[in-house]
Amino acid sequence: MAFFDKMKESLNKGTATVSIKAQTMLELNKVKAEISNLEKQKKDTLEAIGERMVEMKRAGAISVEEVEPMVLSVFEVEAKLAEKELEKQEVLKKEEEALKATGAAPAQEAQGGIVCECGEVLAPGTKFCPKCGKKQDE
Ligand SMILES: [Zn+2]
Repeated sequence: MAFFDKMKESLNKGTATVSIKAQTMLELNKVKAEISNLEKQKKDTLEAIGERMVEMKRAGAISVEEVEPMVLSVFEVEAKLAEKELEKQEVLKKEEEALKATGAAPAQEAQGGIVCECGEVLAPGTKFCPKCGKKQDE
């Protein structure tokens, strides 16, 4: 019955892997949503700065003092973005450690899926990473 035992064992590991990945996915999605909100905020602010400068020039001269607070707020958003990127890395590291702790196969082999260099988990058979575009080796 060695074959059956082995199958059962790999099934258990698979289940643990799936639940770890599901949990990571939740945390990761949350951080990713926060990152995309901040990126939008940054983009909107940059756009507003540009529009304001054009308006000012049209009316006479550009006042640096007036746009400076907006520029500073871009710095703030960038600092928050850097924090969120770190958080994202932390979540991925935590997942890796949790997977190791279960004794499950490395992420690559788990579920027959692939983990891209950028950390994105890809479905089996994916040819190109949808996140960074890197070609995946079979
Ligand atoms: Zn990638």
